[in-house]
Amino acid sequence: VDFRIYSLHECILKVIALMESEATRFGHQIHYKESLDPVLLWMDQDKITQVLLNIIKNACEAMEENGLVRVELLPNPELTTIIIQDSGPGIPSDQLEKIFHPFYTTKAEGTGLGLSICYKIVQDHRGTIEVESSPGNGTRFILTFPLAGNDE
Ligand code: ADP
Ligand code: MG
Repeated sequence: VDFRIYSLHECILKVIALMESEATRFGHQIHYKESLDPVLLWMDQDKITQVLLNIIKNACEAMEENGLVRVELLPNPELTTIIIQDSGPGIPSDQLEKIFHPFYTTKAEGTGLGLSICYKIVQDHRGTIEVESSPGNGTRFILTFPLAGNDE
């Protein structure tokens, strides 16, 4: 691991740029409601990039054509929050708890490892990851991380 102070805002911009061509291919849009603040965190930049990429990629894979992914960064003084909401089919409540388990996948060619890796990385950053979803209302991932200044 390689922890440094890095801007979460920059990290989100990078991930959106990485997802751009795949999203466009399916007519999806990724809207980023950015923070005016760079939102500095102690983070392993590659690992946080991997987390955000996994979640946004899952969103793009879940949606029919012309979907919308909304990314929002809220720089609260104690805990910074990232919300990633998609317009996909949602996840049935009996499957919600399983999505973070290794090898749980509903995709023909999925590994089911993405979200279990995300969970571990977020924990290593002393953050939290939660999901809210119901069929017909899309899926929302909520991540929180302590800001760099609040680290001991
Ligand atoms: P994989 O993408 O290889 O299937 P993940 O761990 O990334 O593995 O995701 C596990 C499962 O969680 C997916 O197969 C899918 O069923 C569900 N899932 C994850 N994100 C979403 C989403 N945004 N909308 C609907 N289902 C999702
Ligand atoms: Mg995945």
